[in-house]
Amino acid sequence: MLKITLLTLVGACGLGAQVRFDVKAIDTSANPCTDFYQYACGTWLKNNPIPPDQASWGRFNELAERNRETLHQILEEAAKPVAGRDADTQKIGDYYAACMDEKALDAKGLAPLQPELDRIQNLSNKSQLAEQIAHMHRIGISGLFDFSSGQDFKDSSLVVAQLDQSGLGMPDRDYYLKDDPKSVELREKYVAHVQRMFELAGEKPDEAKAHAATVMRLETELAKGSLDLVSRRDPEKIYHPMKRAELAALTPAFPWRQYFTSTQSPGFDTVVVSWPDFFKTVNAQIQSAPLDDWKVYLKWHALHSQAPVLPTAFLKENFDFYGKTLSGTQQMRPRWKRCVDFTDHQLGEALGKKYVERTFGAEGKERTLKMVHALETAMGQGIEKLSWMTPATKKEALIKLHAITNKIGYPEKWRDYSSVTIKRDDAMGNAFRADEFEFQRQLDKIGKPVDRLEWSMTPPTVNAYYDPQMNNINFPAGILQPPFFDKGMDDAVNFGGIGMVIGHELTHGFDDQGRQFDDKGNLRDWWTEVDAREFEQRAACIADQYSSFTVAPGVHINGKLTLGENTADNGGARIGLMALLNTIGNDQKKVDGFTPEQRFFLSFGQVWCSNEREESLRLQVQTDPHSPPKFRVNGVVQNMPEFQKAFSCKVGQPMVKNPACRVW
Ligand SMILES: [Zn+2]
Repeated sequence: MLKITLLTLVGACGLGAQVRFDVKAIDTSANPCTDFYQYACGTWLKNNPIPPDQASWGRFNELAERNRETLHQILEEAAKPVAGRDADTQKIGDYYAACMDEKALDAKGLAPLQPELDRIQNLSNKSQLAEQIAHMHRIGISGLFDFSSGQDFKDSSLVVAQLDQSGLGMPDRDYYLKDDPKSVELREKYVAHVQRMFELAGEKPDEAKAHAATVMRLETELAKGSLDLVSRRDPEKIYHPMKRAELAALTPAFPWRQYFTSTQSPGFDTVVVSWPDFFKTVNAQIQSAPLDDWKVYLKWHALHSQAPVLPTAFLKENFDFYGKTLSGTQQMRPRWKRCVDFTDHQLGEALGKKYVERTFGAEGKERTLKMVHALETAMGQGIEKLSWMTPATKKEALIKLHAITNKIGYPEKWRDYSSVTIKRDDAMGNAFRADEFEFQRQLDKIGKPVDRLEWSMTPPTVNAYYDPQMNNINFPAGILQPPFFDKGMDDAVNFGGIGMVIGHELTHGFDDQGRQFDDKGNLRDWWTEVDAREFEQRAACIADQYSSFTVAPGVHINGKLTLGENTADNGGARIGLMALLNTIGNDQKKVDGFTPEQRFFLSFGQVWCSNEREESLRLQVQTDPHSPPKFRVNGVVQNMPEFQKAFSCKVGQPMVKNPACRVW
């Protein structure tokens, strides 16, 4: 349930550029002590405007784009319908070919979805809703709530059934509830979008308008019952194990037995409910809203979820709201880029296996491991030297640190997709069958031992994550390349890049969320009372610091939503630098005129160079636990005396926070 990532990257693309650390990216007219981000990235920012089909454009995107180009080549080859393709090649090739066949999709119109729409239309009784929703969940159409499996917070060796809030068409509950002019305007545009989707599906304007209002009313009720994003970061708040009988008593209007049976879930006695109040809301709405309203709601979610494989008119309407209005993107990405991403999303390990064969050798794994060890050593030294922590808690922290395992590159054991049928002429059917496979795969885990070898990111992904319940850090092959890791560069550059990323993930084990889990991944308090208080005080300093940053007129970062990520950025940079200094000792050789410390910070800063649209920043600040790139850089260096020494910054300058915030 909790996967803490390095960043949230949405649809990246553009021209494949040379992505390396580059002193030419520096804006030499800027003062590093006034705005270090501008200094490290200024010339890059000027020379790399946002492409019209992007919401933002940064160095992460450049790398993601290069990986996507590799996947593109693999898929174009796999899609050639020659005899003798192996099973995985047939699946990814035909999935991609079906997705690419825009003409066929346009010609089919709504026909591939029609059986699903008929199924909804033919409901004659509210008692059939449970079975219908289960059917939709199986084939990947979300609605009302989520059902899946996950490790139990308090016994990480168990996989349990989990129920979570869901069912909204906008990105978060707050979009339904806030009453500032911008939010009101977005809601009006959302309702207009829902109406147009219904019209495209053949409804008359009046009818579509009334139906859009029904969707908005039901979703607003669900939003009111939902827990907010900041509260959802607290594991205790989203952990409510219930016996089946208790769940039935909580929501008597919803026949859970029927729902669970229809999902084809294995049997279980206990289910972990994230937020019981949400399910009370579901219950009340099931009771009060008429069946016809539910049909409208389910129809909307069927159209919405399948828009990517519907005819072009639906695709354009979908982009208009979710791309243009919500993130400011001007143009839809070329079809092949979207189809590469869908293949990665639905058949990720079949495609990823081919990607790894092409790009990643055992050598890459070994060098990364060496850096992981250097970072772990630095983190251990950091914990031992902490002035605010008592020996009892330090001992526990070191036990947890030493128990962290790491996965690098790609899975040891690849996922078996042999039961998924992929047809060359059935894009929507492929999407349903791939989602059904994944839904069943998740449910089949209930009651079984945890699979510690499983990955929750695909190999070409430019990202990384810490999993507090596994107590492991994970680095897909996709990120182990320049500008993060570059065998042609000096240690300072690599420790500022991938070293900082490794440090970031390790620190997640000890941020406000991660610290609540122990070495075995169980939610257990291993802190003395006084140390917990000291931690909270230091974390509050970081929350306040980031809350003071303004990203757009009147829009501030939410320091509490981004606390874990900001803590990880600060800790990651600090131990990244320690690991560098441990590695190079007294060797202060300058490269390109910069000391190793200066190059470390420049490399760290340049990883985050990114141009952002205002709409995209507004969306990010409301929904993303990561701070926008500029503040991921400046927020960190403001807190580091090592930075200030490296660039001779003085108290009173903007990049010197006095007193500085420091947790780890
Ligand atoms: Zn992170």
